[in-house]
Amino acid sequence: MPATVAQHLELRDRHGRVARDLRLSLTDRCNLRCTYCMPAEGLPWLPTADTLTDAEVVRLARIAVGTLGVDQVRFTGGEPLLRRSLEDIVGAVAALRTPGGTRPEISLTTNGLGLAHRAAALRGAGLDRVNISLDAVERERYAQIARRDRLPDVIAGIDAATAAGLTPVKLNTVLMRGVNEDQAVPLLAFALERGHQLRFIEQMPLGPRHTWSRDAFVPSAEIRALLAARFALTPIGRDDDAAPATLWRVDPSPGLPGGTVGIIASVSEPFCGACDRTRITADGQMRTCLFSRTETDLRTPLRAGASDEDIAALWAGATWHKPAGHGIDDAGFEPPDRTMSAIGG
Ligand code: SAM
Ligand code: SF4
Repeated sequence: MPATVAQHLELRDRHGRVARDLRLSLTDRCNLRCTYCMPAEGLPWLPTADTLTDAEVVRLARIAVGTLGVDQVRFTGGEPLLRRSLEDIVGAVAALRTPGGTRPEISLTTNGLGLAHRAAALRGAGLDRVNISLDAVERERYAQIARRDRLPDVIAGIDAATAAGLTPVKLNTVLMRGVNEDQAVPLLAFALERGHQLRFIEQMPLGPRHTWSRDAFVPSAEIRALLAARFALTPIGRDDDAAPATLWRVDPSPGLPGGTVGIIASVSEPFCGACDRTRITADGQMRTCLFSRTETDLRTPLRAGASDEDIAALWAGATWHKPAGHGIDDAGFEPPDRTMSAIGG
């Protein structure tokens, strides 16, 4: 069982994994409507009163970093740049220290809209890196997928992040059959040319109901075959034990430098055995897995005056029961009630 003395707590589960990477969702709202993530009309957003305040977000981060062994904090959403106080939150989290006295690594997953104006301030506040979602390099195709014509703003955000030193800038792409497979090669060329690392994420059954099927998602093997038509790839393995992307070295080719490309094969080659994530939704619910059908409410005790030790014990105790895997292949698999943007991807 997990230890009960606060200073010895860690986010260990009964399968021997220890979570050190916190995904903190700052909002469930978004200014895009990517087809694989949200319905065109959006979702019923959380009431503001239910959303964690800045102080509550920072307190949970402090408990995670100061007591529970978390050493990486990633802000996500919905679209985290919609949180106007993001720079203040990043600054407060950058001031936290692990029990060993080190500062957590702080990163952001964003669609890049508005980043052009905020990248320098975010860097100044202590943000280390960004992952920016980019599903097409053709403007019309981007607009078709995101349901908003915003590709130039995203590229401006990518450029500003690079100029501000939020590097390595990683680009995240979800491929969908019959929609943007033909963008795989141009996207990799775009990333190589600019020195970014592109990572393809297999589409997961976490979007609007009935939009995912085994036939529509493009599995890792097929993504590699699409890329191999233009690039020479050599497998490198994973970044480290818990990194979800399997990496390939891309050889230089006429007109293009070499680099690396990653594939996050959550569906076809699950990496649950190496998972080191713990998640907090924008309304303060702890989830051990993207696919969890249960959540642990930390907001209610937080607002009822619970001590940091009480919250840490609740978080660690619930983590102990983290399931071994996401179960997509199990008979009777049911996706969670909340979709990706409401969980925090
Ligand atoms: N709005 C930000 C963004 O798009 O980067 C952060 C939140 S978004 C939910 C985080 C990541 O999840 C994005 O890279 C997005 O492409 C990915 N995503 C969303 N729905 C997905 C799905 N059904 N399957 C796989 N990835 C998905
Ligand atoms: Fe918004 Fe990100 Fe979902 Fe696209 S993937 S709709 S940008 S939350």
